[in-house]
Order: sequence, then C-alpha cells, then structure tokens
Amino acid sequence: MKTLLSEHYNLEDISLTKMEGYNSSNYRVDAKQGKFVLKVYPVQEKADVLAETAMIQQLAFLPEDAVSNPIKNVTGDLVTHALIDGEEKILRLMFFVEGQFIAEATHTDKVLRSLGSFIGKIDHHLIGYKNIGIQARNLDWDLKNINVSRQLKHHITSTSDRKLVEHFFIQWDQHVYPKMTQLRKSIIHNDANDWNVLVKDDQVSGIIDFGDTAHTAIIFELAITLTYAMFGKDDPIASAIPVIEGYQAEFPLFEEELDLLYYLIAGRLCMGVCTTANEKKLQPDNKYILISEAPGWELLRKWITISPVFARNQFYEAAGFELDTVPSEEEILTRRHKFISSIFSVSYRKPLYVEAAAFQYMYDKTGNTILDAYNNIPHVGHQHPKVVEAAQRQMAQLNTNTRYLYDPLQEYAEKLLSKFSSSLTKVYFVNSGSAASDLAIRLAQKHTQRQKMVVMEHGYHGNTRLGVDISHYKYTSKGGTGLSENIIEATIPDTYRGLYKNNNGEAGQQYAGDLIKKIKQSEGEIAGFITEPIVGCGGQVPLAKDYLKLVYKSIREQGGVCISDEVQTGFGRLGSHFWGYEMYDIVPDIVVLGKPMGNGHPIGAVITSDAIADSFDNGMEFFSSFGGNPVSCAIGFAVLNVIEEEKLQQNSLDVGDYFINELKRIQQQLDCIGDVRGSGLFIGIEFIKDENLDPDTALAALVKNELRNRNILVSTDGPYDSVIKSKPPLCFTKENVDQVISELHDIISK
Ligand code: PMP
Repeated sequence: MKTLLSEHYNLEDISLTKMEGYNSSNYRVDAKQGKFVLKVYPVQEKADVLAETAMIQQLAFLPEDAVSNPIKNVTGDLVTHALIDGEEKILRLMFFVEGQFIAEATHTDKVLRSLGSFIGKIDHHLIGYKNIGIQARNLDWDLKNINVSRQLKHHITSTSDRKLVEHFFIQWDQHVYPKMTQLRKSIIHNDANDWNVLVKDDQVSGIIDFGDTAHTAIIFELAITLTYAMFGKDDPIASAIPVIEGYQAEFPLFEEELDLLYYLIAGRLCMGVCTTANEKKLQPDNKYILISEAPGWELLRKWITISPVFARNQFYEAAGFELDTVPSEEEILTRRHKFISSIFSVSYRKPLYVEAAAFQYMYDKTGNTILDAYNNIPHVGHQHPKVVEAAQRQMAQLNTNTRYLYDPLQEYAEKLLSKFSSSLTKVYFVNSGSAASDLAIRLAQKHTQRQKMVVMEHGYHGNTRLGVDISHYKYTSKGGTGLSENIIEATIPDTYRGLYKNNNGEAGQQYAGDLIKKIKQSEGEIAGFITEPIVGCGGQVPLAKDYLKLVYKSIREQGGVCISDEVQTGFGRLGSHFWGYEMYDIVPDIVVLGKPMGNGHPIGAVITSDAIADSFDNGMEFFSSFGGNPVSCAIGFAVLNVIEEEKLQQNSLDVGDYFINELKRIQQQLDCIGDVRGSGLFIGIEFIKDENLDPDTALAALVKNELRNRNILVSTDGPYDSVIKSKPPLCFTKENVDQVISELHDIISK
C-alpha cells in the first residue's frame, strides 16, 4: 500500500493506520506531505466513488478544510486502479479533515446552532445539484428505504425494545409514508452523525464521509442531524432547538416537514437499532457498529415518553412558526354536550383532551405526556403494535360473523380456553363486559331453571337492565331503583373496613357463615352467585381468605352455579394468577370476560362448562352480530400472544409487588393512608381521616386531581369514593412507579 501511495501520489515517509468503518477499508495516512485519508474500494464501485468525489467538489464553497477534498494522482486522476492481493481495487486519497468530533465536544447551544447552520448551508447549496451517480443510488441507509431495516427487527432480542421499534414503524406508515411523495427532494449528505461532524473553536467546521450521500427528502438531513445531536441528552428536545434555529436561518423549512420530524427521528433511530441488531450477528468483532447502539436505544426509550405534539410544537417554535390554537376544555365540552348526554361523565376537574397514546403513555392536545396509571383496558399497552397489526391485517382481509366458517374463531377459542381449567370448555363471544354478564346470568337461570341471584355488595357487572339489577354499585347509588325481586345481597367480606377483620381464614368463615344463612333461607331457589375476585368498584377489596370456597360450596349444594366476573381481574393482571378466582383455589362454573381482552377493541366473552352450554342450547339461536367476528378474534389472539411473549403477568407481579411495597413504605410516614391493598397491578389506596377509619373522600379527590394536574392518571372509587385505584397497562415499569410514588408523597405531604 505504501509503495502504491508513493508511486501514484508521490508521498514520502508514509505511515498507515487502519480506521474503523461500517464496510469500507479506510486508512489514515501520515506522510511528509501531510495527513490524508485513503479509501480502498472494489473496482465495481468506481462510478459510485467518482459520483461521491464530484459531490465533495460541489461543496467547494465551504472553507477548504471543511470536507475531505480529493487529491489527484500523478496522472491527474481522482481515483487510482491497483491490484491488491490479486484483486483489482480503486484507491482514493483525500485530505484529512482536522477538528474534534462533535461526539467528543461539549454541546453548547453555540455548537449546536452552528451544527444546524453548517448543515443548512450545505443543503441550501445543493438544491438543484444534479449528480446522476448519486441520483441512481438506492441505499439501505436512505430513510425512504426504511422497510429494508424494518425487516431486520426480529434480530432485536428484547421484547420490550422490539415493541418500541414496531410502534414507531407503524407511526411511520401512519404519518410519514402518505406524505413521502410530496416532500422536497435533493441530494443530501445523509449521515451527519456525531462521528462525521467536526468542531473547531466552538463552531462546526467540517464534515466527512459522503458514503451515504443520497438523492432523497431534504428533511431527512435535519432528522438525521438531530438524532445524533440528541444522543446522551437528558432533555433531547432542548438540544434540538438550537440545531433547528441554525438550520432554519440558512435553509427555511416548511411546516409540513416539521410535522414529520418527530417520526423521522424515531424512524432513523429504529433504522439504526435494527441494522445494528443484524450486523452484530454478521460482524461480531466490528466495534464501529456498536458505537451508536447504546445511545440509540437510550434515545428511543426516551422518545416514547416525549409527546409527538410537544415535539412538533417545540420544532415549530424553533423554526419561527405559529402554533395551532387548541380549543379549551370548556369549548370541547360545550360541543360534546350538544350531542352527547352529560350522563356520560368526564373524569377530573381538569378534563383530559387527548391526541394519541403509546403503551403506558397518553399524549394530550397541548403536548403533555400523561403517565397512565389507571386504564386497564389497554391491557398490554395503548396502541400495542402487535394488536394494531393484527387488527389492520384481519380488517383488510375478512370481517364477517359466526354464521360462516373462518379460522380465526376456532383458533382464538382454542387458545383462550387453554387458559382455563378442564371443566370450562365452551366460549360465547360478545362485545362488552355488560353483554357477557347479562348472558352469564341467562345461562345460570336457564341451567338451573331458577331466577334468584346472589350478588356482592358494591359489585358492578354491567349496564344492561339485568346488569344493573345485579350491580349493587348501581341500584343503590344515585338514580338507582334499589334491590330487585330475586336478588340477594352478600355483605362484602372486607377485612379492612368490615365487621370481621382477621384475614387468616377466620373472617372469611364468618362472612361466609352469614351469607350461607341467607342462602339457606332461599334454599333450592338460587340460580347462582356472581362476584369479582377483588371487588373493583368497592375500592379494590379482596375477598377474605376462604370465603369463596365456603360460599361456592353452599351455592352448589343447593343447586346453583358460581360466576366469576373477571372483567377487571383477568388476563394476568393480578400477577400471581392469570385469573382472579385462582387466588382462592376454586373453579367457577361461568366466567365473565371483557375490558382487557381486546386491548380496547370491544370484545367480551362468557366461558362455561359443556353441561351449562347444553342447557342453554334449547332451540333458540344465540347470535351476536359482532361477537366472535374475525377481526375481534385476531385481536384477542394477538393480546394473548403479547401477554405470553412479553411475560406481562410476571411483570405485573414484579412491578405490582414493588408498587405495593413502596406504597406501604410511604404509608408509614402518612397517617392518612389507611390501607394499601390489591394484587399485581390492581391496587387500592384507601384514605382515612382518623383511627376510626372515617373515610377521607375529599383527600382522595384532591390526590386524584392533583396527580392528574401533574400528568398522572388514577381514579377514585369505593362506597365513600375514598380509595385511589391504580390498574395501569401491564407494561408499567418500576420507574413509572417511582414517578407515581414521588408525586403522591409530595401531594400528600403538602
Ligand atoms: N364487570 C366488571 C367487573 C366491570 O368492571 C365492568 C366495566 N367497568 C363490566 C362488567 C361491564 O363491562 P363493559 O363496560 O364492557 O360493558
């Protein structure tokens, strides 16, 4: 190599050092004549190398030492043909660009602004520049070819990381793809990463590596520059601002381009981590590949916590554009109440006006990221990509009803029933928890040929006529019409606030004993008994130990059936068990499912035994237009898969235990927290005024609303509305818990 350099470039006293790179072979050359970079390429890449060299020459307007200008060989050519180890190669010698890599420099606002301005100048200058070689390129590293790296996502081993990438790819389809053809195109450097940009005297002074230069959307340039400028930053958006300001001053952006920037940055990050995941397997010893892996992941994990609305607003401001005005909550409420009855309540004193959501985060209209510590319907996370994809795929293929044969129905039924014990063998698909509990009661009444139902104090099971009749929470509350005929109430076996408090089995026996006396009074007339394993609307009250075993026995002995409403507690939420009833070592005859089943898509179901299903099958058809349709089945199936793949039941146990322990820790310091209870990520915090357990409704309301003002969602419930409920998506993390605990502690202390 040295001989070649002296022969073709007249260099003397040469020393060579290999430089790390993704694919090419690069050498640093120190010679008597100065410092150079030598790049060696396969001969087939000659046209490409010449195109790249022409591109560098096009940037002659920059100071001489800003780019690695090519050096002609002794015959006046920009490339040199040479035989190396018997193979024909192309050599290209360039000046070495001096400076400190921006990756190693302090990122003052001045440096970042100069970065934007440097890149903006280049992009401005290149507008209209034609270079057939570059225009003909079709690089995997061009963001418009993001689907190439997308296909490598399966190489990412962590499921929680992979789902982030999948989410942002879907956001790309949603936001970027439809706009792609309308974006301004030009030739851009396309790789202003932090090891390609050089700084001197607090100013960006140079850029190297034109290997990824492409003719593509100009806004990709800024997206890539920002991606790397934000690496390792506590507040990435704050670092993006000066870069955009600098860029905008040299090359004015369009609003439509800024609208996409959040998703383009995410796309670039995803492209990077997918490529790295693959390359790590192909080139395990190449350290260069790993350079941006850790900061890339760090930024991607942070990116999901940054609202796209916030990012867009900040980018707009940096570029000097006016923000859209967001209507006030009052305006929205007025508009809503024109058509929507106020019987549909709105949570919080300051209602939440939302734009989008992802996993445990919701993004409001004004740019806040809200930590969702409340909603259990998006069980595996808001907008989970696997669920979204399943829905989109099936919706585009077939949606019909159970009067026809199609595979998703059997497949889902089989998978769902595999989660139950062997006595539960039949499923009826409906569209809500209410439809399911209504049907469950009909099944019980048909099977037993009786009407009476035993229901739990503070229980809620649905909004149908029958649903309200069996829901103490509804029929005793405002507007309720009281106890209906054929309803028997069971006192809630609450060991905190109730009559019996010893939860080692004694209270359970006492509560059960009281109910059994009532059952005996209607002996032979009771069709069934329905309860949740932990009574949600009662304020997350677990049933006293041994209670259910004894009550189930008594109900069955007199010919009735036992129904477990798992709408809130099912699908692994409780951590220790997949179904709530399993906590009490019993198996119901009928199970009611809903909420988490479709992660927000309306699916409910009733599960029962062959015997009960046979009794119901009396000639009258049971038909639900939407229950069990292929789209719902595909979604339900995807939800079960995600729970398994992401080990969400285990996460619920780990994070839930941590949450409960942290709450118990602050309970020691705060007398107003009377009780902390629940299981997994199904938690209740009861507020009291004094040792007599006087409920502190006002404090619970204050805490709920103040948490909401601090962008954390929880709710209140229970007979005195004095219990804070938290039942977040099961992807909730310990860091999320820390945030809740710290704000909760602060609010109460104040
Ligand atoms: N059962 C329980 C325990 C519930 O919490 C609910 C809903 N809150 C229902 C049934 C009714 O479900 P849906 O709102 O889907 O009709």
